[in-house]
Amino acid sequence: MGVFFIRVALVLALSFSLQAGEAVSPVAKTKWERDFLLANLEFTLLHEFGHLLIEELKLPVLGMEEDAADRLAMIVMMTEHEKKSSADFIPWLLSVAGRWYIAWELKDSPEEKVVYWDNHNLEIQRFHNIVCLVFGGNADLLEEMSDTEFLPFERSVNCDYEYKQALHALAWLQSHYGQQPAVGLRANAVKVIYKNPREGENRAIYDLLQSSPMVGKWAQRLSDSFKFPRPIRIEFDNCYAQPNAFWHAPTASITICYEILGHFMTMLEYRRQHSTKACRIPILRKHMGEVMNCSQTAGRAGP
Ligand SMILES: [Zn+2]
Repeated sequence: MGVFFIRVALVLALSFSLQAGEAVSPVAKTKWERDFLLANLEFTLLHEFGHLLIEELKLPVLGMEEDAADRLAMIVMMTEHEKKSSADFIPWLLSVAGRWYIAWELKDSPEEKVVYWDNHNLEIQRFHNIVCLVFGGNADLLEEMSDTEFLPFERSVNCDYEYKQALHALAWLQSHYGQQPAVGLRANAVKVIYKNPREGENRAIYDLLQSSPMVGKWAQRLSDSFKFPRPIRIEFDNCYAQPNAFWHAPTASITICYEILGHFMTMLEYRRQHSTKACRIPILRKHMGEVMNCSQTAGRAGP
């Protein structure tokens, strides 16, 4: 609920900025903004794929399903992007971690922050878990991340093990359930559907999605790699209420609200306005300086 009110406040702030003549848009204008949105969309999509695979293939799950879906999403992203240059893939992966840190910061009150009964880890735990996996797979590039607030030393010593464990689980999944691509035979096993977007921000987000091959690529990859007992749909839709994404087992469909991308943009805008603490950590400034607007916040006091 607190996120909603902050979002309204930020939208109002952006409106005033527009009135002041600044070209601020709710959708990505720069490469950094676009990458932040698409990296978080990729994580969201792959997290829901995790639920889908668990349900449709009847995978055994030891531990919490939500945590398993997070780990699957991250390890798939890491293996997918590791061939790129570190200047591209490290910010891409840290953008996903950063989203969860911001989500934690945006909670209004201790009562709202600490929902112990929920089947999701707390946002701050999801952040630390993701940072640990990224560090575990890239300790040579992120050595300075250890022993910081974002990755305490005590956790960092276990990250290599956690990364290898996740990698082993992914390899097990592929060897037990994966199959060689047979494009054509299962071409329609996973369909992507874009519902007619509401005018305004959702329309702009729809246009952004059409300009990227990412969603179609992952749908095709899923369709080619696994045999599912029934057709799967991925639907982008107008949600009106909470910006959300979810797997719905009865209809074998993943719904992603257009609004969740607007929400990512709001988060990025918040980070760029409140980045002093993170910008003080050299390794974060090195990889995320442009994303977090560190050059602008270098002399600013506060969190
Ligand atoms: Zn989930």
